[in-house]
Amino acid sequence: MLKRKQFAVIGLGRFGSNVCKELYQLGHEVLAIDANESIVDSLKEFSSHAAVANATDERMLKSLGLRNFDFAIVAIGEHIQPSILCTLLLKEMGIKQVWVKAQNIQHFKVLEKIGADRIIQPEKEMAMRIAHQLDSEKIIDYIELSKEYSIVELVATKKISNNTLVQLDVRKKYGCTILAVKRRDEVNISPLPNDFIYQGDILVVMGHKNDIKRFENRGM
Ligand code: ADP
Repeated sequence: MLKRKQFAVIGLGRFGSNVCKELYQLGHEVLAIDANESIVDSLKEFSSHAAVANATDERMLKSLGLRNFDFAIVAIGEHIQPSILCTLLLKEMGIKQVWVKAQNIQHFKVLEKIGADRIIQPEKEMAMRIAHQLDSEKIIDYIELSKEYSIVELVATKKISNNTLVQLDVRKKYGCTILAVKRRDEVNISPLPNDFIYQGDILVVMGHKNDIKRFENRGM
């Protein structure tokens, strides 16, 4: 069983409420906060504790015990100012990981400056994943690590089926790494050199985007 963590989710719109529900369902302790009472009510059964509070009220945040949390997710979308102020307060309180949803590029830049630990742009991130899935029928999923590097899930083709990882030699030929191999419900997270790949396996590949593309187009 995964270690139970404590999360505070502040702002319970479409994004925040879904993060809250999912974390709670995963067995974590989740404090859900929103200024809107009816929204807070609707999340009572999907959180450990739900509170009505203004995210920019420092005293209120302290009285809710926020300084004891390791993680906070700020998902106040509509107004940029309370999102920024709340992030600042949470970082000042010493919360180690403050993840914030950004509305636009200006918002993103300010959040970066004030020390948000991860800035999320849901529409942009999701749009990129979907575009990459549409781009190639071999791509199942796509995660951007940086401008240059990504992790991609590729479906193993007939061309590479019945080969071991050594035979494929993807790292040497294409400079990317097969991190894991998924076969039906099983995930092999430390594939060995002599493990076989079969058609339909899902390969989790990490590397430079150009290298992954080369492997995808020429190697399989
Ligand atoms: P989404 O795009 O994820 O649906 P919204 O912008 O619609 O996000 O929702 C943001 C939520 O944040 C709303 O439920 C709103 O009540 C809440 N909110 C906005 N300002 C504050 C604030 N100062 N304190 C607490 N909650 C806030």
